[in-house]
Amino acid sequence: MSDRYDLIVIGAGPGGYVAAIRASQLGLNVACIEKEPELGGTCLRVGCIPSKALLVSSERYEEVTKHFSAHGIEVSGVELKLDKMLARKDKVVKALTGGIKMLFKKNKVTRYEGHASLVSPTEVKVTSAKGEETISAERVLIATGSVPANLPGIEWDGDRIGGSTEALAYPEVPGHLVVIGAGVIGLELGSVWRRLGAKVTVLEYMNTAMPGMDAELSAEAVKIFKKQGIEFQFGAKVTGARVEGEGCVVECEGSEPIRCDRVLMSVGRRPNTEGLGLDSIGVEVDRRGVIQVNEHFETNVKGVFAIGDVAPGPMLAHKAEEEGVACVEHMVTGYGHINYDTIPSVVYTHPEIASVGRSEEALKEAGVPYKQGKFPYIANGRARAIGSTDGFVKVLAHAETDRILGVHIIGSNAGDLIAEAAVSMEFGASSEDVARSCHAHPTLAEIMKEAALAVDGRALHM
Ligand code: FAD
Ligand code: NAD
Repeated sequence: MSDRYDLIVIGAGPGGYVAAIRASQLGLNVACIEKEPELGGTCLRVGCIPSKALLVSSERYEEVTKHFSAHGIEVSGVELKLDKMLARKDKVVKALTGGIKMLFKKNKVTRYEGHASLVSPTEVKVTSAKGEETISAERVLIATGSVPANLPGIEWDGDRIGGSTEALAYPEVPGHLVVIGAGVIGLELGSVWRRLGAKVTVLEYMNTAMPGMDAELSAEAVKIFKKQGIEFQFGAKVTGARVEGEGCVVECEGSEPIRCDRVLMSVGRRPNTEGLGLDSIGVEVDRRGVIQVNEHFETNVKGVFAIGDVAPGPMLAHKAEEEGVACVEHMVTGYGHINYDTIPSVVYTHPEIASVGRSEEALKEAGVPYKQGKFPYIANGRARAIGSTDGFVKVLAHAETDRILGVHIIGSNAGDLIAEAAVSMEFGASSEDVARSCHAHPTLAEIMKEAALAVDGRALHM
């Protein structure tokens, strides 16, 4: 095994492992250092994948217990085996993390297990139970991801009071779960435990859920989640949380303390740069610890690059992957492209919520003239057949050029439907282009076509 490489990647999350594979495809001799035994990062181990596994399982449970009857299917004796549900989730994770190991082998990426720290711009020390070794490379790519943020006064014990990792493995359904932060994690994991029987109270500092999202979408989402039974307290200023006896107490300014069984902290994540040695080589970070990079993901230190959650931009797995590919392609070929205007985001609740491009609020603030076309799920044949009629698709197009500027969806399969919008925008499509494209019948995709037609006031089924 050589200890001199063309590229060392630190972190094997979706940013790092994808960058390592692509760099190897491009002919570089690549090493990837990961401190956890399993590859795949937050996303595969304790993020995207396990949360979606539980979202699906809990949705199935809710379907059987609440919705099958409407289809004329009467089921009795339904029983929740939480340990089996959690074991299934773990199996899904294991299959995928094992898959990355195989991909590394296939692509001849050399894996180091241990904690990495920069000794110089070209040397990285790997520390593990086995000891220390230093490896070197022409370039180093930092892809160390992020960790959950905490708030002052919250006595995080990693059991009753914890973050998403704990909430992916509660050993029993909490009687009462308090979620602090009505963002993506709070709503996805809050939905999981509500469906499984917990009372869920969400405390949010702002006056709406998912504050950065198109306001019409977040208002609709809150309405639907309330109907499903999630309780919200907006404008809530949480001042503390502690374990007391068998449960917890959450303190909120101006209101009575809330007693509950568990607390899920989901107030955002911060870049993970602990012990990386950034100071020692002078890598610039902002006041939130985000590593600063240029358009080719290079830091102020020549030859040292950063991508994914540890770098600026949305903390999304697909954003990290795209950056990984663009970064190493630019290193090798001189070209590497990423269009930040067409990165979709999806919240995997029921219904799903998906967006790409700019919100109405952002367009108004920028003074961009736009037209809007909206079409409800309830007017679509497939949505009726599925029995999922909540939600709408909204297309925002430039008032003069008709170019699509943003698409916002709340409704079943929004996360799949948004792909059409992202591809259309990538190709600079107008709403007329989408409206004139043939969409199969009966599909939910027809809602997209109708919303595009609605931009010009000519939706056919409304
Ligand atoms: P990470 O995936 O965090 O990987 C970084 C890796 O670096 C880790 O494996 C870490 O162990 C390793 N590392 C850190 N420091 C060192 C060091 N010094 N030495 C060696 N190794 C180190 N995003 C989506 O797009 N869709 C979703 O559905 C989604 N769901 C999520 C659900 C949850 C509960 C959470 C927490 C996050 C979710 N995300 C989702 C966000 C997504 O997980 C991240 O955006 C993504 O993982 C970032 O990828 P990354 O490669 O930058 O970092
Ligand atoms: P988030 O940024 O989505 O939401 C945090 C929420 O907490 C916000 O609504 C914010 O206003 C609120 N908040 C902040 N301080 C608060 C306080 N003191 N009291 C009460 N509320 C407060 O963060 P998250 O949900 O923790 O998720 C972290 C990251 O993980 C996100 O950036 C997200 O992109 C990523 N993620 C993505 C997905 C997905 O793509 N489906 C799923 C999970 C996580």
